[in-house]
Amino acid sequence: MTSVIPKKVDSEPQPTKNGFTPGEFHKVHVLRRVTIESVWGLLEHCPVLTLNKSEMLLEKGQTNQTMYIVLSGKLSVHLDTADREPVAFLDKGQTVGEISVIDDSPGTAFVRAAEKTRLLSIDEETFWRLVEASHEFATNLLLILAQRLRANNSKIVEGVQRRIRLEREASVDALTGLRNRRWLEVNLDRLAQRHRCGGTSFTVIMLDVDHFKRVNDTYGHAAGDRVLSTVSQTILNSLRPTDLASRYGGEEFVVILPGTALDDGMIVAQRLRQQVGGQEVDCRDGRVLPPVTISLGVAMLGDNESGKELLARADGALYRAKQNGRNRVERDGDD
Ligand code: GH3
Ligand code: MG
Ligand code: MG
Repeated sequence: MTSVIPKKVDSEPQPTKNGFTPGEFHKVHVLRRVTIESVWGLLEHCPVLTLNKSEMLLEKGQTNQTMYIVLSGKLSVHLDTADREPVAFLDKGQTVGEISVIDDSPGTAFVRAAEKTRLLSIDEETFWRLVEASHEFATNLLLILAQRLRANNSKIVEGVQRRIRLEREASVDALTGLRNRRWLEVNLDRLAQRHRCGGTSFTVIMLDVDHFKRVNDTYGHAAGDRVLSTVSQTILNSLRPTDLASRYGGEEFVVILPGTALDDGMIVAQRLRQQVGGQEVDCRDGRVLPPVTISLGVAMLGDNESGKELLARADGALYRAKQNGRNRVERDGDD
């Protein structure tokens, strides 16, 4: 009698006929902690595709009903067009296409092979059967979706911060931190228009540092810059929070005083003149320069007047302040 030795049953799953191996299974993020035996029967029929470098996998706007798992190689993700710089890469073990399978909506990006890439292709039906078969698979999916959501959120925040920074840079003078001329012109017209529609009127002060060229010539350009920063800070410190100060150009500044009539504007202008004229300039290199003086022209917005017209009148008054000896305030209409 011959004794039959029972053949040893190898319970370890074997590579599928498509070439997907248990070794690869264990490297896939969405299959982490999934018991291989619980899902191998579903995966062994899934096709394995090979894409050559640059070959397209998913197109923006097209329906997709397949989740792909990268087994080797690398995919690149592109937003606006497929030939734009990639916004992300997907490496071995990562998945793509799962969102379209879940929400049955067209893809939002182009995905192509960044190098020769092997992919396991999981159709919609198999995908949902995996969700049913493995709690871990479903949990991993949620984790992947949460990570994608967070990555998107931080991209949105970055975009908003970048836009705010660019807007700020476009309207703020780098040396003094005051609003720049572009900002002033836009906002002066906006305020003038608001006044025409029943809003409050306002007064502007245009001011210019006296003999500033001499400051540069005597102490150097860097010291001149420190003078401009100090004058700006002194102006800001002398104004109400609702007043608006801007650097109009070089050593010329414009202040807007909302809700202020000409007489009160004159008082503010005199105060600015005194404050600036009493402020020494710390050059931060051991030198302290004597105060500079400023000349100022004041004008109040007239009915139906544009911002540009108002500035021209303030400039006329400033010109007279220079003519009349500098370090003084002149008002529009007194000539
Ligand atoms: P006035 O009393 O008539 O205004 O004489 P001024 O010397 O102040 O006027 P002028 O227009 O002759 O000279 C202005 C000088 O301001 C010339 C320019 O080189 C200098 N300047 C303009 N912008 C800057 C700047 O950002 N930094 C420095 N340091 N100097 C500047
Ligand atoms: Mg000057
Ligand atoms: Mg000037």
